[in-house]
Amino acid sequence: MDVELKRLEQEAESALAALSRAEDLEPFRVRYLGRKGLLSTVMRQLGQVSPEERPRLGQLANQIKQGIEQRFEEKKAALDFSDGVVQQAADLSLPGRALPFGRLHPVTQVMEEICAIFEGMGFAVAEGPDVELDHYNFAALNIPEHHPARDMHDTFYVSESILLRTHTSPMQARIMETQQPPLRYIAPGKVYRCDSDITHTPMFHQVEGFLVDRRVSFADLKGVLTSFTQRMFKNDLSLRFRPSFFPFTEPSAEVDIACVICGGSGCRVCKRTGWLEILGAGLIDPEVLKMVGYDPETFSGFAFGLGVERIAMLKYGIDDIRLFYENDLRFLSQF
Ligand SMILES: [Zn+2]
Repeated sequence: MDVELKRLEQEAESALAALSRAEDLEPFRVRYLGRKGLLSTVMRQLGQVSPEERPRLGQLANQIKQGIEQRFEEKKAALDFSDGVVQQAADLSLPGRALPFGRLHPVTQVMEEICAIFEGMGFAVAEGPDVELDHYNFAALNIPEHHPARDMHDTFYVSESILLRTHTSPMQARIMETQQPPLRYIAPGKVYRCDSDITHTPMFHQVEGFLVDRRVSFADLKGVLTSFTQRMFKNDLSLRFRPSFFPFTEPSAEVDIACVICGGSGCRVCKRTGWLEILGAGLIDPEVLKMVGYDPETFSGFAFGLGVERIAMLKYGIDDIRLFYENDLRFLSQF
């Protein structure tokens, strides 16, 4: 009987340990602790053992029964508790809650689109530092100290020779300094100017592009820019080149596209002219080529710079550049 009691105790213990659902508690109690359960059945045999053995075995049987009862109650409490928590925390019949999806900022989207179009034409993408040396931002681009063109840039200076770049053109000098033609690069990135109104923000985005090779002409520039604007605005757009001046290109031009709002008939956005200015461009000044050690008799090239916000405003018909930076979700979620 000793052996049988011990075995029963072990069996009950492991059955209790394996028990993990509240609905299994009652069958366990009936099987082991019930009036017709296994333990009671063994205890009923106490009457048949010798009177000397009876007190000891009776005591042992009671101890085992109490032990199982105690652990049964503990298990029951633990399962009741976790059951209760599960019921409170999760109503499995509720429909799921969708998390809001983020999306790319419209300026980022347009910048990626611009880069993709030029990459399709064989241009490589190069990025440079936002905090730039005066040398690369101005001097290497034929804008020496005291040149009047510096006034147009409203520069944020960090120190006398270090500044926040006012255009992404410094990459032109940085790349030409270390590589030989043929070169085809675009340099997208943030630029900074001390300026803020309905069409200007102190930080904005620019994509600078340039190409250097033998016998590059203005016709090549025109071809590349026409191809770009038509892909960007998905239209058979007309282009117009107006003579202009930049210190690092000669000749220089500002490029207009037929107004994408009114189609050229004249509206408020194009100030009744039918044209919208979208970028500046020109053939790279021979002085700039000389500064990086290229022979201007052998090599020529063109460069252009376009404002990403400007393109995004025209593409989506946005009339205030500051909307891009107010982080109003009602605005941002439209793109
Ligand atoms: Zn118009």
